[in-house]
Amino acid sequence: MVKDMQRTDVFIVGGGPAGLAAGLAARMAGFDVTVVDHSQMPIDKACGEGIMPDGLAALRRLGVELPASCTAPFRGIRFVDQSGKVDADFAQGEGLGIRRPVLHNVLADYADRAGVSLKWGARLANLSQEYAEVNGQAYSFRWLICADGQNSQSRKMAGLDEGSLPRRRFGFRRHYRVAPWSQFVEVHWSDQGQMYITPVSRDEICVALITRQQHARFEDALQSFPDLAPRLHGSTETTRLMGAVSSTRRLRAVQKGRVALVGDASGSVDAITGEGLSMAFQQAVALAGAMRSGNLLSYEEAHKEIAKVPRAMAGLMLTMDGHPKLRQRVFRAFAAQPEFFSKMLAVHTGDASPYSFGVKRSLAFGWHLLTA
Ligand SMILES: Cc1cc2nc3c(=O)[nH]c(=O)nc-3n(C[C@H](O)[C@H](O)[C@H](O)COP(=O)(O)OP(=O)(O)OC[C@H]3O[C@@H](n4cnc5c(N)ncnc54)[C@H](O)[C@@H]3O)c2cc1C
Repeated sequence: MVKDMQRTDVFIVGGGPAGLAAGLAARMAGFDVTVVDHSQMPIDKACGEGIMPDGLAALRRLGVELPASCTAPFRGIRFVDQSGKVDADFAQGEGLGIRRPVLHNVLADYADRAGVSLKWGARLANLSQEYAEVNGQAYSFRWLICADGQNSQSRKMAGLDEGSLPRRRFGFRRHYRVAPWSQFVEVHWSDQGQMYITPVSRDEICVALITRQQHARFEDALQSFPDLAPRLHGSTETTRLMGAVSSTRRLRAVQKGRVALVGDASGSVDAITGEGLSMAFQQAVALAGAMRSGNLLSYEEAHKEIAKVPRAMAGLMLTMDGHPKLRQRVFRAFAAQPEFFSKMLAVHTGDASPYSFGVKRSLAFGWHLLTA
């Protein structure tokens, strides 16, 4: 039986990182906010668990500081393949590795303390653009935010599911009790896909495999990364293997009337970019501003801008993934011109414009690419 209608300004479906950040941002903009999620806290998810500096900057705008005691910093990105390694520092700041349940607890705590009403184990029975029914309670709202991940049901119900067909790869992650051996997030490349290593504490690392092979076996794939397998051999696994689809999808629109999409529900880029969380946090900030102005159209524009570089980078990296010979050439060219890799990382994190490469530098890199 449905109880009396409860009123909230902003109703958010999905209390993952995107939903919690959007809730916090909306609350800071003065709205009364309710977040519903069908899972129980704390929520874990297969993820590489690295937050890039642009994502941390967006979190700081929401007043969120991730505690040093349960994070591990990284200063840049290192690519490793059979032909060698190349790395670059971030132009500004550092990134942080953090276990997903820890991130979830921290964000939920900030949201709760800000006065966001959080409902866990909440079953969404009905949803329209006017009202929602959850666990027998009906809610009316001014704004509806769909933040229920890449297979968002609320997005479908709101009629915003149209877009490109998803391109899928498959992600698996496991943690090991190993002191991080590098101050970088290391992305190891092989013909099996990529394995990347994120430090998540002083004595633990997250190892994520992203591959085109749905039935890949983590242990077998590990053997195709000769720099990595010996490092992990014999070390204690601290979590069980967890998998998720890594999908690339662009939607026709991310808002309509009183409804907006945020996080993976608003389209996603391949996990190899490491930008999923950062994009979600930036979108949360932009969306709160749009709701405050009373018009979501500015969010559509901001969303495009936030996704532009990560999409382009995902395209580049997927091309390298699909063409091993090209990848080896690119790696050799990066090794010969490490400043090009630094510049690319600066573009990736929003610290430089894609147009800032300069003709001379681009020609030099092109030459190395041809002759590598
Ligand atoms: C293998 C892998 C590695 C990755 N590595 C990184 C990385 O290193 N760095 C990075 O930034 N990003 C990474 N990503 C991407 C990142 O995980 C996502 O972008 C991020 O989780 C998006 O957050 P979200 O809140 O939008 O969605 P989710 O984290 O999927 O959260 C959605 C929430 O909605 C809830 N929900 C779903 N359906 C309903 C419903 N019907 N009713 C109520 N609640 C519902 C779920 O319980 C969940 O809590 C990776 C992804 C994969 C697959």
